[in-house]
Amino acid sequence: ESAVELAPLCCEYRLRDDTGRLVWIENRSVPQRETDGGVHWYGHATDVSDRKIMERKLLTAVRMDRLTNLPNRQSLVSRLELALQQFQVTGARYYAVLFLDLDRFKLVNDSLGHEAGDALLTEAAERLRTCLRLDTPLAYLTDGYTAARFGGDEVVVLLDNLQLPDDAQCVAQRLLDAMAEPYQIGMNRVVISASIGIVVGDAAYQRAEEVLRDADTAMYEAKSAGKGRYLVFDSAMRERVRSRMELENELHAAVERNQLLLQYQPIVCLQTGKLRSVEALVRWQHPERGLIPPSDFVPIAEECGLIVPLGEWVLRTACQQLAAWWQSVGRQHIPSISINLSRHQLLFPELVQRTSMIADETGVDPSCVHLEITEGAMMGDPDSTLKILQDLKRQGFKLAIDDFGTGHSSLACLHEYPFDILKIDRSFVMLLNAASDYVPFVHAITTLAHSLRIQVVAEGVENAEQAEILHSLQCQFAQGYHYGRPVGPDKIMRLALSTCDAEIPQLETVVAFS
Ligand code: C2E
Ligand code: CA
Ligand code: CA
Repeated sequence: ESAVELAPLCCEYRLRDDTGRLVWIENRSVPQRETDGGVHWYGHATDVSDRKIMERKLLTAVRMDRLTNLPNRQSLVSRLELALQQFQVTGARYYAVLFLDLDRFKLVNDSLGHEAGDALLTEAAERLRTCLRLDTPLAYLTDGYTAARFGGDEVVVLLDNLQLPDDAQCVAQRLLDAMAEPYQIGMNRVVISASIGIVVGDAAYQRAEEVLRDADTAMYEAKSAGKGRYLVFDSAMRERVRSRMELENELHAAVERNQLLLQYQPIVCLQTGKLRSVEALVRWQHPERGLIPPSDFVPIAEECGLIVPLGEWVLRTACQQLAAWWQSVGRQHIPSISINLSRHQLLFPELVQRTSMIADETGVDPSCVHLEITEGAMMGDPDSTLKILQDLKRQGFKLAIDDFGTGHSSLACLHEYPFDILKIDRSFVMLLNAASDYVPFVHAITTLAHSLRIQVVAEGVENAEQAEILHSLQCQFAQGYHYGRPVGPDKIMRLALSTCDAEIPQLETVVAFS
């Protein structure tokens, strides 16, 4: 008969040594029953402090984001899974997820460099910590807030101890305010906002990824709605985003599949009634959805960068059309064409060269091409926009400021830009009648424009009364349903031939000015 080995006993514990240092000890002992009935213990105790430190570092490395020192995506996901389970069991407390994304962060990275981008992210994380009062790393996981860097410039905050669902919105607003304070990055002062999507948890959510997907969707909607704001997710959003993404995918193919088309709207001289120009307006002939107006797809094209090839297609097609009209009816009947440029096209470095090339290839004189740029397009970066406008002008193109009166540029700034034409926005023309408060406003515009040798076009003229008032206010040109809706090239040709001998409309002056 020999001794019997029993189950071994393992444990780890901490001791404080003589110097006060904490030492991790691993103890492994094996009890053994001897033949005489007694029990002997064989074992060893090892100082495993180094291994423990290493383990902790590893744990931190897999759970934390190095740059911002916030927990990373994985920690957040596991923490969220736990919150979901708790919610399913108790159902009592509210939880919410905030999906935060910095607006136009890419611009910082691209223009100031990645180091500046990193510095900004670090500072943003610091503000987040302060805002959520998360002082120690441990607190992320204990006091109901988990803030984690989700990737790039995305941060996800889990609030899993809310008194009321609306509290999530208060936290979101606090975060937005904190993010919107200017950042000092090296020598640069950077102002950047953030957008937040909020999901308030309910029993329908089973998986962390579902919650995060919806929070992401709400964030995306907050950006589309104008950035710098938060939005709470609702199920209608999911449908909108799905349909938008579908449209975006199809739009990529639309140019190649020849689904885009241009319609042209006449711009006439108020004095003579003759055609001055036609504005090219893009439409999308969708195989299932029918004719889609530009307001439904131009913003999408702008957001996904497709506006550059799309805009180039518009430029080329419109110039080709003008050349074709000239061939068939002669230049004098359709003297020029007006083409819209998106502000995203103005950011495209080769715009000037490509546009000149298109005019050249199609045999159209650049002075017969009026490029329309909205007031808002100049706000992003006025200096570089000015340079591009001057370059276009040097190439011989005529420049029009579009939707005038809707942006923030004042009349006083007009002389700083090389515009040849000013288009008064439809929202003012719409309200014009003899008693309208807008009469002096329009008059001020025409007076100043003429002193700068800028021609004035009124947009959205829908009736004879408006036309008469505009004429009396020295506005030279008009566009609108009163003269014709946007139509195909053949109709324009017929219109051009019919107006060339038309009688000059008798316009009476109905408004007197003091
Ligand atoms: P916009 O440049 O201000 O174009 C004028 C818009 O007003 C056109 O709408 C036109 O159909 C509409 N309109 C003209 N007269 C009247 C009127 O008397 N009453 C009313 N209610 N509306 C009138 P559309 O074609 O839907 O175009 C909307 C906007 O889409 C354009 O506004 C322009 O900003 C943009 N867009 C159109 N084509 C292009 C393009 O090729 N490139 C770019 N970047 N944007 C385009
Ligand atoms: Ca326009
Ligand atoms: Ca316009």
